[in-house]
Amino acid sequence: MDNQLDRAPGGYFSFSESGFVRSANRTFLDMLGLREDTALIGQHIESVMSVTNKMFFHTYFYPHIQLYGHVDEVYFSFRTADKQNVPVLLNGLRQERDGEISIDCVALLMRKRLAYEKTALRSKRELEELYKETREMNGQLQLLHAEYEQKQLELIEMNRRLETLASTDPLTGLYNRRFFQERLRKERISCSDNGSRLSLLIVDIDHFKKINDTYGHPAGDFVLTGLARLLREEAGSSGICARFGGEEFVVLLPGLDRSAAAAAAERIRGAIEAATHGSHRVTVSIGVETSADDSTEESLLHRADLALYASKTGGRNRVTHAQDLSGS
Ligand code: GH3
Ligand code: MG
Ligand code: MG
Repeated sequence: MDNQLDRAPGGYFSFSESGFVRSANRTFLDMLGLREDTALIGQHIESVMSVTNKMFFHTYFYPHIQLYGHVDEVYFSFRTADKQNVPVLLNGLRQERDGEISIDCVALLMRKRLAYEKTALRSKRELEELYKETREMNGQLQLLHAEYEQKQLELIEMNRRLETLASTDPLTGLYNRRFFQERLRKERISCSDNGSRLSLLIVDIDHFKKINDTYGHPAGDFVLTGLARLLREEAGSSGICARFGGEEFVVLLPGLDRSAAAAAAERIRGAIEAATHGSHRVTVSIGVETSADDSTEESLLHRADLALYASKTGGRNRVTHAQDLSGS
């Protein structure tokens, strides 16, 4: 065997049809840990195989090479004298040489390849594990996100309810005084900006104390609630009604001038006079003021209150516009 083949970077060996080794290169001998070629040449090729590999050789390698003349890329394993496995990738070719059949084989060591494959397999498993964890984390994140959004919605709803509570009178459901003061400020600015009038009504129940004194406080509350409902109905969609305190209510009427406001107040007074609350009836006195160019929130409230006082002293159950008072 020439030196080049003897030292080729792969094992080469050749055996007869009956399985006796005719030649083997140094590389193959080294793979099997054999020092002398006499340890293999003349021996049966199965002498360097385990029982399992012998069976494989018989059931696959021999029949295949007899039938097709070659065997390609077979994962195989030889066995050294001290019973170590030598994994190889095996190619075989059956050919006639010098009138005799030879089976020539090359064997490439597969130890590193198998180690690579093991590492690759482990990495693949670790990656799959990581993907799984990532997927689970994503799922949890989505759940947390949904929970967070739900909490946000609850918070918005809670804030809305708090805002409503902070601006509402609990007994009547009308706006409270704090909210009214703020609206009065805004409406006055907006009316003076667009050159329209703003009217303000103060509505006070006549002799309300008598209801409480005669029928008790709950009856008084019942009347206050009914009157608030009526007030809201009569004030229309642009009227802003609030409980100013006790049995006193205020109505803001943006855009209504003096005569329109007086007419609205008269309508409200008449509706209240006509209504019954259970078996109770009440009347109201109303003071009205309509904004002029120099009006302030304080002046509007003060002059509406003066007009209310005039309605009270004038006999109650009536409407007075502040601009009809003498000296105004
Ligand atoms: P006037 O015609 O002069 O306005 O007489 P009035 O009795 O209505 O006025 P006064 O200010 O003397 O009495 C108001 C009463 O309103 C006294 C108070 O007990 C009652 N009141 C105030 N707030 C409430 C409330 O929330 N519920 C009930 N039931 N009564 C209330
Ligand atoms: Mg009163
Ligand atoms: Mg009063």
